[in-house]
Amino acid sequence: MRPPLDAFLALLQDGPEVPQHRGVLKESLGSEILELLEREELLIEGEPSDWYPCPSSRDGCPRVVQRDLHRDDELPHAAMCGSPGSECPTLRLGSDDLRTAGLSLARVHEFLQRLIGLPTEPVTPDPAFDYVFRIGKERQPDRTVLLYERSGTGTLAAELVELRRRHGAALIYMPTPTWVSPAVARAHGPGADPELSFLSERISFTRTGLAWSAAPGGAPQPTAVAPKAPRAALAPDALAGAFCLAFDGEVRPLSEDGYRAAVTSAGEKDLFLDLVGRSSTQYDGGVRGKDGKFIPAKLSLAEGAFAGRLILSQEPRLLSSLRPQKKWHYKFFQRVRGKLDVPDGRYGWTFFHPVGDSRTEETYMFRPGGRKFLLLYPKELKP
Ligand SMILES: [Zn+2]
Repeated sequence: MRPPLDAFLALLQDGPEVPQHRGVLKESLGSEILELLEREELLIEGEPSDWYPCPSSRDGCPRVVQRDLHRDDELPHAAMCGSPGSECPTLRLGSDDLRTAGLSLARVHEFLQRLIGLPTEPVTPDPAFDYVFRIGKERQPDRTVLLYERSGTGTLAAELVELRRRHGAALIYMPTPTWVSPAVARAHGPGADPELSFLSERISFTRTGLAWSAAPGGAPQPTAVAPKAPRAALAPDALAGAFCLAFDGEVRPLSEDGYRAAVTSAGEKDLFLDLVGRSSTQYDGGVRGKDGKFIPAKLSLAEGAFAGRLILSQEPRLLSSLRPQKKWHYKFFQRVRGKLDVPDGRYGWTFFHPVGDSRTEETYMFRPGGRKFLLLYPKELKP
């Protein structure tokens, strides 16, 4: 699968309605697929952003946008960091830099209906799982076609039983096999009921657009890729004052050798997050999935800093305190959790736990419960 398509499916899986800076999307999707998704109106323009990412994550970050500060200029807006004595430079921005876009789920559903060749009919959410949608009916064999958009809070195997009970014979599409254990994938391979199928194995990106291919042979293989060493060279001073917080609770200064060793052994950890090295606008991280395989993830600068600060806090944090100038805290947190946490039991998660009244969905704490984690972070990162 091509990485840009991977990025698109990850977007669908990880919290699709949250608008992101179009420049960030362009970076992950590539301009070709970004423009294709916009042309098909799967990505729709959001409100212009009132903030802009910072390279660091001090108090006051990220940069706040002051619009039309320089009215007669090509770059009329300014983005300024609120951090006192900030090292984040003030940027002059054009209106293009503030553009945001998010997936339109309704359009994605219609588009998938057409791509798969299902009759157009209203798409309805499952009454119990709001991340599952009925997108149509297949004639041969006669079964309901469902789209299971993102990992739920329960156990997939139990949810599949529940979905089969409610919808009858079913073919269930998921964006990627990221969250599916090999045992569940095997039990729900071709011919099973319900059968699981992955968009990542069916959709390809061609010159003329997105194409649909016939079912792949054999049982779907969950993706489990060993984490790669960081692509970008470390900036010369990236390690100056950098630290490593390990699962023994110790904070150690990070040497270059220590850094290389940590990155090389990342796949042996239950959770790994590297906020020191980065490839342009992304950080490397990942978690060990339920099947025991390490699932690497790319985090945006904002996502990485958010997770890093929550981990460093070692105490309950209001989500809004981790990104004060923003909205959509819980949605954003869900996206981060999609990359750095693993569902545990029917309602629980492995690393980030709600504290107090969970109905408010506001306060969380990093509690690794003895699991091996490693956070590499720069000196600027403050909980
Ligand atoms: Zn800043």
